Amino acid sequence: MTKFVYQFSEGNASMRNLLGGKGAGLAEMTSLGLPVPSGFTITTEACNDYYDNGRQISQAMQEEIFKNVELLEEKTGKKFGSLENPLLVSVRSGARASMPGMMDTILNLGINDEVAEAIASATDNARFAYDSYRRFVQMYSDVVMQVPKSEFEKHIDALKEEKGIKLDSEMDVDDLKRLVAEFKKIYTDAIGKDFPTDPKEQLLGAVEAVFRSWMNERAIYYRRINDIPASWGTGVNVQEMVFGNMGDTSGTGVAFTRNPATGENKLYGEYLLNAQGEDVVAGVRTPSHIDTLKDAMPEAYEQFANIAATLENHYHNMQDMEYTIEKGKLFILQTRNGKRTAQAALKIAVDMVNEGKITKDEALLQVEPKQLDSLLHPHFDETELKNSTPVGKGLPASPGAACGQVVFTQEDASVWAKEGKKVILVRLETSAEDVEGMHVSEGILTARGGMTSHAAVVARGMGTTCVAGCTELVFKSEKEIEINGTTFKEGDWMSLNGSTGEIYAGAIKSIPATIEGNFATFMQWADERRRLKVEMNAETKSDVERGLELGAEGIGLARTEHMFFEETKIKALRQMILAKNTEEREVALAKILPMHRENFTEIFSLTGEMPVTVRYLDPPLHEFLPKEADLQAELAAELGISAQEVAETVESMHEVNPMMGLRGCRLAICYPEIARMQTRAILEGAIEAEKKTGKKPHVELMVPLVAFEKEFNFVHDVIEEEAQTLIKETGAELNYKIGACIETPRGCLRAGDVAKKAKFFSYGTNDTTQMTCGFSRDDSGKFLESYYERNILEFDPFQKMDIEGVGELVETGLKRGRETRPDLRIGICGEHGSNPDTIEFLDKIGFDYVSCSPFRVPVARLAAAQATIKNEE
Ligand code: ADP
Ligand code: MG
Ligand code: MG
Repeated sequence: MTKFVYQFSEGNASMRNLLGGKGAGLAEMTSLGLPVPSGFTITTEACNDYYDNGRQISQAMQEEIFKNVELLEEKTGKKFGSLENPLLVSVRSGARASMPGMMDTILNLGINDEVAEAIASATDNARFAYDSYRRFVQMYSDVVMQVPKSEFEKHIDALKEEKGIKLDSEMDVDDLKRLVAEFKKIYTDAIGKDFPTDPKEQLLGAVEAVFRSWMNERAIYYRRINDIPASWGTGVNVQEMVFGNMGDTSGTGVAFTRNPATGENKLYGEYLLNAQGEDVVAGVRTPSHIDTLKDAMPEAYEQFANIAATLENHYHNMQDMEYTIEKGKLFILQTRNGKRTAQAALKIAVDMVNEGKITKDEALLQVEPKQLDSLLHPHFDETELKNSTPVGKGLPASPGAACGQVVFTQEDASVWAKEGKKVILVRLETSAEDVEGMHVSEGILTARGGMTSHAAVVARGMGTTCVAGCTELVFKSEKEIEINGTTFKEGDWMSLNGSTGEIYAGAIKSIPATIEGNFATFMQWADERRRLKVEMNAETKSDVERGLELGAEGIGLARTEHMFFEETKIKALRQMILAKNTEEREVALAKILPMHRENFTEIFSLTGEMPVTVRYLDPPLHEFLPKEADLQAELAAELGISAQEVAETVESMHEVNPMMGLRGCRLAICYPEIARMQTRAILEGAIEAEKKTGKKPHVELMVPLVAFEKEFNFVHDVIEEEAQTLIKETGAELNYKIGACIETPRGCLRAGDVAKKAKFFSYGTNDTTQMTCGFSRDDSGKFLESYYERNILEFDPFQKMDIEGVGELVETGLKRGRETRPDLRIGICGEHGSNPDTIEFLDKIGFDYVSCSPFRVPVARLAAAQATIKNEE
């Protein structure tokens, strides 16, 4: 029989997949002899069993849980429901990957009317007993019924208002008793049953609630944006309670071994006296800095600082710890690798290597490639910044420069962002319900909460700019705020500096970041380690320059159609498209040639001897023609033909399914003169560039959308013939190769044939995904939502490669291609080229390079280094 429950003393850090991150951490700390309250973990497999079993906790599992309760009772000398020495526990979820705030913890489970009274008299602290009780009823109801926290907060606010008090700590025993009764009534009204008084029944209800929460909407969304599969499941930790709410020698807090915003090597954290659980993170009261604990409780501080150092050395990584002090005695409740800003991540990685604490490989694995994105985000233009005065200031919770229009709800943020607007989400405080809106926002501003509040932690994880705990911010109404006399209504522009905490009215210009300092050192380590080359998808001067700055080693995809967006070029192209016969087309092509050549001279002058893969015209040509009648008439006038003629051509080119229509190599097959002109433009550009720079361009001429060997061969020969003609004319020595863009499933299967003439392959996996799954990449967004909800797909296959399906085709093509031509150079130019999971797969099967948009190049460089390290293991 599968073992579903492990005491903390039975586990360790290596059992993370089975016990979840929190459970494995608690077990490891227990084995290190640290002061961890006893408890046990119900495994992630148990969670899967619950779902396999029709959402039921099986009889056998229940028995195993209760047997472990008995073991816990023996260890602690306490008993569930006992009036002499009652055992109270917390029930805490914990998946393999940390999902902050996604699932709620229940504290003080095991309490009921009699137990509360017994605790009150035993501790001589009725306030403590009833504070614990009301928290339990509140959290249990909240989690089990899935009603928003605000339902309960309303009652607390009403009570405080009635009594004219402000702080939770000012509530007296009768107030707390009243809240217990009110909360129980909320539960009964919603569930139609009395609030459970039997601790065992409470426990099963709580465990099931944790399991259920694994499939709630927020969790599904969080998993999707963080690449976490549903099949991992969550563990449930049941742990003896220790109490931070027993008076002023008790407290609770969170701390990081290093500063998670800057990376500074100094214990960093916050705590609250006489408080419990989430009080610190929830931002209800503003916590004190951990430095002040040194004076308040020197012994506990000293002990904690030592434990922090031990844990960081033990885990070889910066730790994020949660602790509680009960009447002066310290307990550690959690440790995990701390989330950190990208700046901090780089500083910590580089510092720890320099301190001799970790290896370079460990440093490389410590930083999430996706995170580098935020470093490449812009910061405010210094001169504009000097001319602006901040209207207020909050905590610099997550760095970066953000500018957008103010919205006040997560729903509005989502709606506005979908309309293409940039938004700043302003909230009193955030909670897990806001995550989706936070994700689409440029920046987040909250009135309450510290550096470890929900908003701060989640924003740092996302790399989104955040200013938290701006106490100067006052809500005038639901959709209007005031900061030191400046009013912001919905839609007003605001700028946030997440590195200083400053808030500005209006939009401030920002400028792009550069790679220097720790970033440069770190990227150099990545480059030394990676096997895959990293190139860029780019074809304009500014993009190519940007990509080169960010470390691209060539151009993996230059889309020639993107070179026609300029006014004069598009006109000539339209003339070419509207040509009625080859002669007319040749006339138009002759106009295009010099302009097109100039594009390539420009690019090749920048790329020197790096490889540059140029893709021949790929999209359906009617995409270049105007659809509206007035624009068609304008075009007709320019070309001296009738508007009707233009309209008729547009009509005749209409395709029911353009993605499968006249595009890709089919264009060059129907109109070889286009491919001839492009060949000439590219190679003449190469000759010009060589004259300018003295460096010989390494040109790869790529035929798109190949499915059949003969398709490729036909276009290959057109290109080769033109190239040879040019060589004869000019006597130039050229360095070029002709190859195929492998996109269609048939192209993958018959790659062995294509490789007879093709000297390189580049995989355009956007089209492969489209044609393999049969999903239109322009429309699939609409129905994929339903797929995620129903757990049919967990990821967008256009973002992260479907390795099982599309990946098998890619691998098949690679193997067959290399059987024919062992030195076939192979890369990817689809959207997947910077996705870390995809990169790990491509590294494993033997790709030569990946190519992605210039901004993603550093991400791909790091992901490639990680892939090398992981695939060596
Ligand atoms: P999260 O995953 O959201 O951090 P946790 O399970 O860590 O949730 O619980 C949140 C907080 O609840 C902890 O930081 C701690 O303050 C409190 N808590 C959890 N278990 C216990 C316990 N056994 N005794 C005292 N406090 C606890
Ligand atoms: Mg925690
Ligand atoms: Mg394509």
